[in-house]
Amino acid sequence: MSELMEMLIRRGFLWQSFEIYGGMAGFIDYGPLGNGLRRRLENLWREFFVINERAVEIDTPTVNVEEVFIASGHAESFTDVAIECKKCGKVFRADHYIKEKLNIEADCTIEAVKEIIEIYGLKCDCGGEFGEPFHFNLMFTTSIGPGKGKRGYLRPETAQGIFIAFKRLLDYFRGKLPFGVAQIGRAYRNEISPRQGVIRLREFNQAELEFFVHPAEKTHPQFKRYENEVVRLVDKFDNEHEITLREAVERGIIAHELLAYFIGKTKRFLIEAGVDEKRLRFRQHKDDEKAHYAADCWDAEALTSYGWIEIVGIADRTDYDLKRHMEHSGEDLRVFVQFKEPIKVKKLKIVPDLKKLGPVFRKKAKAIAEALERMDVKDANVEKVEVEVDGEKIEVSRDFFSIEEVEETIQGEKIIPHVIEPSFGLDRITYVILEHSFDKDVVDGEERKVLRLKRWMAPVQVAVLPLLSKEEFERVALEIVEMLRNAGIYTEYDDSGSIGRRYRRFDEIGTPFCVTIDHQTFEDRTVTIRDRDTTKQVRVKIDELVNVLKELLSSEKDITEFGEVFRG
Ligand code: AMP
Repeated sequence: MSELMEMLIRRGFLWQSFEIYGGMAGFIDYGPLGNGLRRRLENLWREFFVINERAVEIDTPTVNVEEVFIASGHAESFTDVAIECKKCGKVFRADHYIKEKLNIEADCTIEAVKEIIEIYGLKCDCGGEFGEPFHFNLMFTTSIGPGKGKRGYLRPETAQGIFIAFKRLLDYFRGKLPFGVAQIGRAYRNEISPRQGVIRLREFNQAELEFFVHPAEKTHPQFKRYENEVVRLVDKFDNEHEITLREAVERGIIAHELLAYFIGKTKRFLIEAGVDEKRLRFRQHKDDEKAHYAADCWDAEALTSYGWIEIVGIADRTDYDLKRHMEHSGEDLRVFVQFKEPIKVKKLKIVPDLKKLGPVFRKKAKAIAEALERMDVKDANVEKVEVEVDGEKIEVSRDFFSIEEVEETIQGEKIIPHVIEPSFGLDRITYVILEHSFDKDVVDGEERKVLRLKRWMAPVQVAVLPLLSKEEFERVALEIVEMLRNAGIYTEYDDSGSIGRRYRRFDEIGTPFCVTIDHQTFEDRTVTIRDRDTTKQVRVKIDELVNVLKELLSSEKDITEFGEVFRG
């Protein structure tokens, strides 16, 4: 187990679920500190992707009726190719097993896997042979209601809940594009053989934004904010680029401004959350790697001890999902878009001759005339047309109608919006933040483990420590704890062990500031604040403590700007 993992479990960030029953791969519990950190991440995400956009957040069920995933294509296509050992019965995800044993990036098709197994004589670890590769659907099934019930699935992504509520959401936005709808919540994927600890989970947390736009307007009013951001890109041909987003769009590496906008915003968000910029890149999916719904997709990838891992997927889902839900539900999910200027179009129109229709078609004449008027004609010289009246197909020759050219004014059109989706895996991001923050240095001649979390993200932001375990020190310390908690600062109190040991304990969990009550506190009502990263200390008046800490927590300012440097 890595040193970091050992610390995360020991200090209560996270641990394997169901531990006392032997555990189960793909499930983790968030302990007090891990949960705190993930919540901070969620709130930061909300600031970036909801509050800062024309967007709202909704919450829909994790159990879905099967119709949703039949329409979305997940029931058919959300699969991985698996291989099962004929001898020991172990099942592996084929592409992962092939990569691990042969270091080959395999296509995820049954044929490709079969071929590789044959060519390389690939066998199971136990020496057994593999049977025929097969598709394994990653969705957990369940049944809704008693008895046989109705088949349901646990959602593999939060996005579908948004698509199927689209009509109501469009109303909420008064029928106007563009708009975004976000959802933060659990997603479930029955991963075949999750062996990468916290990276590949069967139940995990997603934060997704579905941004609905006019198909011809894949841009964003705020693109300017990010156009000069330099990003590290790996395109679908494995070419690497370090260029601005504007240039990437102009050179056609990124398909359009809206994708580029979300790549830029995602980068800023991840860095703000504590991901190391030097270990972050954006990689475009290869054509055979894309999800069944995606026209183009860029993953934010972070370099970790597991190699480069995907932490965010930014996909152009086009009109795929809304179209499919329209077809399957029969609901009209199109949006009426008004033209800037109404347009006039010339059109051919059939003009029925009732005087001639009457004597020949008698009772049906009126219905035939109405059907003729509704018809679209392209050719002014047609000799005959066919209409349907009461289920009967009737041929009507040119003797009974004429064709005129008319001018029509059209105010707008109905379109199916396209969707750009940044989809964040909060668990992986949380883990990457922890790995990228984990550091060791030497303080006072002794090695120290320190988690260099962004100040605001730390699960414990301030620790209050009485220098001595004496009643008067503890009383003042507890008063300060209450004051800081009332101010909305995540504060802990600790009076056990030497002050040096206590500083180390809080360094290890990433607490940016420790406040110490010492002898001088009783002389001038000041305390010391110690900075985790530099270990410098300053003296600050208790009355100013809340303001100073708040400013320090929400900035990267040096602690020495806030008080006289204190030397032990
Ligand atoms: P996807 O819909 O596959 O693009 O997934 C969106 C994001 O969810 C990914 O970028 C990952 O961060 C996260 N994710 C996907 N699968 C898993 C998993 N099995 N365990 C944890 N996170 C996952």
